[in-house]
Amino acid sequence: MADIRIGVWQDQPDLKFLDEILAMPGGEAAAACIQCGTCSGACPTVRDMDSSPREIVALVRAGYRDRVLRSNTIWMCASCYACYVRCPKEIKITDFMYKLKQMAMRAGYKSPASKRAQVLAKKFAGNIRWLGRSNEMWLLVKYFLSTNIFDALKYAGMGLSLLATGRLEMLPKKSKSASEVRKIIARSREGEAMRQ
Ligand code: SF4
Ligand code: SF4
Repeated sequence: MADIRIGVWQDQPDLKFLDEILAMPGGEAAAACIQCGTCSGACPTVRDMDSSPREIVALVRAGYRDRVLRSNTIWMCASCYACYVRCPKEIKITDFMYKLKQMAMRAGYKSPASKRAQVLAKKFAGNIRWLGRSNEMWLLVKYFLSTNIFDALKYAGMGLSLLATGRLEMLPKKSKSASEVRKIIARSREGEAMRQ
């Protein structure tokens, strides 16, 4: 296979980073990318990212492990799939971002940009395991208790309006399929452990 690494002018490139990415399911995106930038043009959150989706792929190829895993880009990705549907190479950039998030969490990267997103992701996953579905009210209660409870005050007005119009459920309702959802999560974890 041709060497697809770029940026070899870098002082100390971590070339193992690209190999680790390529070995992951979905990580092959790094090899297929032609750097056209369509994903960055389609991305609704690109303005808040420190590196665009196209740049993240380029940085992975160049071996910038720290810069990628500390980047707020992977946490600003809203999983909207706009990049995937427009990518001329049909690269699943959204899944690629998920892989990078997993990698950052496992390696213990905790930048200010990612800390809150990691808390939200963990609380959301806990919510799904508990109820088999998401409950926004309890998700936000747990999130603000783990970050800054006073931040909740900023959203109190909106929360009350949503409660008043029935768009926010006060009491958590368990899905009838909660136990099935837990089994799916457990199987997925087993599969992931086997792949490592
Ligand atoms: S749209 Fe696809 S091919 Fe183009 S830069 Fe983005 S990931 Fe690479
Ligand atoms: S899935 Fe993520 S990276 Fe892709 S366009 Fe949406 S927000 Fe941007």
